[in-house]
Amino acid sequence: MKIVFFGPPGSGKGTQAKLLVKELNILHLSTGDILREKLSDGDKLSIKLKEIMSSGNLVSDEIINQIIANKLMSIKCSKGFILDGYPRTISQSEFLLTFSKSNSLNFDIIFDFKINFKLVEERILSRSKQEQRSDDNIEVIKTRLDKYIEVTHPVSQFFSVNFSQKFFTIDASQEVFKIQKELINIIKKGQK
Ligand code: AMP
Repeated sequence: MKIVFFGPPGSGKGTQAKLLVKELNILHLSTGDILREKLSDGDKLSIKLKEIMSSGNLVSDEIINQIIANKLMSIKCSKGFILDGYPRTISQSEFLLTFSKSNSLNFDIIFDFKINFKLVEERILSRSKQEQRSDDNIEVIKTRLDKYIEVTHPVSQFFSVNFSQKFFTIDASQEVFKIQKELINIIKKGQK
C-alpha cells in the first residue's frame, strides 16, 4: 500500500500516519522527522537545515528529493509506505512522479487533510509546549502556513485533478480515532 498525505502543519497527519503504519505494517516516511534526525549530526548541513527549519521555510528541493529517492529505493519500502510532508513543491512533485514512473511505483491512495487555520495555530502552539520544537512559535507557524497555502496547496490541487479516483479529502478537525476509522474504511473499500 503506497499512500500520500497532504495537509498543513498541525492538521494531525503525522499522528494519523503513525497509527496507520502500525495497522498496515508499512513504513512512515516523514520528511520532517528525517530532517529533524539529521539536525543532531552537528555538521555544516545540519547547521544550514536548522536555520531553514526554525524559520518555517522549506529546505531545498535537491536535498529533499535525494533523501526521498534513497528511502524509496530501500528494500524496507517495498511493502509500502506513507509519504508524509512530501511532495511539498511542484518541483518535488515532478521529481516524485518521474521517479515513480521509472521505478514502477504506483500510489494507491492520496489523503488530503483539511482544517481551519485558526485551529491549526492553537494545535501547534500547544504542541510546542509539549515537544519544545523550535519551529512551533506563532511567527514561525504563520510562515509555515503561508508556505503551505502558496507552495504546497497547488501541489495537492494537481494531485486532486490528476489522481481524482484515488484522492480523498479528510475533515481533520474530527477526533483522532474518528479520522483513523475513516482512513481505514477508505483503504478497505479501495482493496475490494
Ligand atoms: P514537518 O514536520 O513536515 O512540518 O516539517 C518540518 C520542517 O522540515 C518544514 O517546515 C521544512 O522546513 C522542512 N521540510 C519537511 N519536509 C519538507 C519538504 N518536503 N520540502 C522542504 N522542506 C521540508
